[in-house]
Amino acid sequence: MPSSDADQTSTISFLISNKKTRLLVIDGYIYQQNKSTAKVSYWLCEIELCNAGVYLNSDDQFLKYAENPHTHIPVPERLEISQDVDKYLEGVGVGSLLLIY
Ligand SMILES: [Zn+2]
Repeated sequence: MPSSDADQTSTISFLISNKKTRLLVIDGYIYQQNKSTAKVSYWLCEIELCNAGVYLNSDDQFLKYAENPHTHIPVPERLEISQDVDKYLEGVGVGSLLLIY
């Protein structure tokens, strides 16, 4: 039984909203950027009544979760995975999920 402690391989991806703002997606949860400093950005769950959040570094790498847990289940059915970046660049890629690694 391998320990999963050091194996936090949450899949981080970014969704481009139709307002051209970035949304962070981890494990079916969607986050909006809340505030950022030169080194750390803080992303808050898009569900208003939920105070869960995530910290990323300036390279969009996962740092840690905020202390508050989600108060709801993930909503993966909202996510339409598309790697068609060209569509997004043409401005018709609403909901495109851009995977970055
Ligand atoms: Zn939440």
